[in-house]
Amino acid sequence: MKHTLKSLPLSNSFAKLPEDFYARVEPSPTLNAAELIHFNPAAAKLLDLLPGCHHSTEFKAIFSGNQSINNAAHIAMRYAGHQFGQFVPSLGDGRAIMLGETTNSLGQAWEIQLKGSGMTPFSRMGDGRAVLRSSIREYLCSEAMFGLGIATTRALCITACDDKVYREQIETSAILTRLAPSHVRFGSLEYFYYRDKFELLKQLIDYVIHYHYPELSGNDNPYLALLQEVIARTAKLIAQWQAVGFCHGVMNTDNMSILGLTLDYGPFGFLDSYNPHHICNHSDHAGRYAYDQQPQVGLWNLACLAQTLTPFISEDDARQALDQYWQIFATEQQQLMARKLGFENHNDDLEPLTKSLLSQMQQSQTDYTCFFRQLCDLERDNNQANPTLKDMFLEPERFDQWLKDYRQALRQYAPPDMSRQIDMKQANPKYVLRNHMAQLAIEKAEQEKDYSEIDRLIRLLQNPFDEHAEMQGYANPAPESVEQIAISCSS
Ligand code: AMP
Ligand code: MG
Repeated sequence: MKHTLKSLPLSNSFAKLPEDFYARVEPSPTLNAAELIHFNPAAAKLLDLLPGCHHSTEFKAIFSGNQSINNAAHIAMRYAGHQFGQFVPSLGDGRAIMLGETTNSLGQAWEIQLKGSGMTPFSRMGDGRAVLRSSIREYLCSEAMFGLGIATTRALCITACDDKVYREQIETSAILTRLAPSHVRFGSLEYFYYRDKFELLKQLIDYVIHYHYPELSGNDNPYLALLQEVIARTAKLIAQWQAVGFCHGVMNTDNMSILGLTLDYGPFGFLDSYNPHHICNHSDHAGRYAYDQQPQVGLWNLACLAQTLTPFISEDDARQALDQYWQIFATEQQQLMARKLGFENHNDDLEPLTKSLLSQMQQSQTDYTCFFRQLCDLERDNNQANPTLKDMFLEPERFDQWLKDYRQALRQYAPPDMSRQIDMKQANPKYVLRNHMAQLAIEKAEQEKDYSEIDRLIRLLQNPFDEHAEMQGYANPAPESVEQIAISCSS
C-alpha cells in the first residue's frame, strides 16, 4: 500500500527505550520560507510514499522542520565517541532529529531523520544547522554509494532556505532528510560503557539485537555474536571503500554505524589519481584517516566497540573476534580486486599482478577510476597494447610487461573476453562523485538556485556502471586545476 504523508504509519521503537538514550525535541522552524530543492524518488519508494507526494506544500513543510508529522516521538539520540583518537564523553545528535520510523510493505523499518533542523540538547556550541554545501555533498554521496552497491544511509530530499549560518563565511542553511534502519553508532554504546551504566548499556545492545540482528538472539552469547557480525560487516564495508577509492575522512567512532553502513558524510572524497596516502579531510593534518589508513582505523574503532561489550563477553572472546578482522578484510579485498581485474575468484597468482599494477599507478599518478574502467575493454589476445592505457603510465615498457603478464593470467583464469568485459564493467564504475563534480552542483545551487546539476548527478551516480554516453565528460579525470579542492570538517 502506498501512503501520503498524512497516512504514513510512523512509530519510534528507539523512543520506547528510557529517556537516557535520547532527548525529545522538535525541529526548529526556519526563519525564511523553505523550498524543496531536490527529491529522490528511489528513497521515497523505500517508505512506500505515493509517487508525486513531494509536490504538496505539506511535504516541503515537514522536511524543512516547519510542520510536525503524525505524532511520533521526535528525538535526538545520545552518544559519545572517539574523535581523532580522543574520547569525547558527550556528543549526541547536535543537529539531527529523528521524526520516527516507518515499516514498508517489505517489512523493512526506516528511521527518518532531519539533519540540520535546529538545536537539540546535544548541540554544545553548535547552531543545530547544516550548510547547503555539505547537505548537497551528503545527499549526492549517499546515493552514489548506494549506486556502487555499498551499504549506506540513504537520502530522501533536501530543503533549503535563506536563513544565514555562520561558518568560515556566512552561508545559507539546508536540511537533508536521511534514512537508515538504525542510526545507532559505536559511540552510542561508548556513552554508557564509560559511565559504568552497564544496565542501560545492556538495554541498548538488546534493542540493537532485537530490532536489527534478530537472527543472533538464539546464540549462546548474543553479545559476542553481535561483535563478530559487526566486525565482519565493517571489514567488508571498508574493503569495498578501498576497492572504489572512497575515503570517509572522519572515521571517528561516533561516525561508525552499528549496522555496518557508511554513515555521516563530511569531508569524504574519491581518489582521483592513485595515491594510497591521500588525505581527503583538510583538517586531518596527521593523516589519521588517509585512504591507506582506513582498514587499520576500522579495526581500531572495532576494538573500541569490543571494549564496550566487555561487561558481557570475556576479553579473550573479544580479542579472538577482533583477530578475525584482517582475514575477513583481506578475503573481501582480494576478491574485489580480482573482480576489478576480470577474474571471477582470487588466487595467489593474482597477488603480484595486483601489487605491481598499484605500484605503477602510484608512481604514475594514474587516475584510479578511469584506468580500471578502460581496462575492461582490453582484448585478451590482441597484443597491440592499448595506447590509451599505456599513456597513463610513466614507464610504458614496465607497463607493457605488466600487460603481458596480465594477458597470460586472463588466459589462465578469466572467462572469455565478452563475458569478462561485461563482468568487469559491473565491478569498475565509470562514474564516481569526484569533488569537482559535487562542487559544480554546489556552485549552481548557491549562486543561481539552479538545482539541475544535483538532478543530473543523482541520476548518473545511482547507476554508475552504465555507459551514459551523453555524460562522458563526467567520466574524465578531474581537471588539474580543481584536483586540490580542500574539504574540511566545517559543515
Ligand atoms: P560530525 O562532524 O557532523 O560527525 O559531528 C560531530 C558532532 O558535532 C556531532 O555530535 C554533531 O551532532 C555535532 N555537530 C556538528 N555540527 C553541528 C552544528 N552545526 N550544531 C550542533 N551540533 C553539531
Ligand atoms: Mg557525526
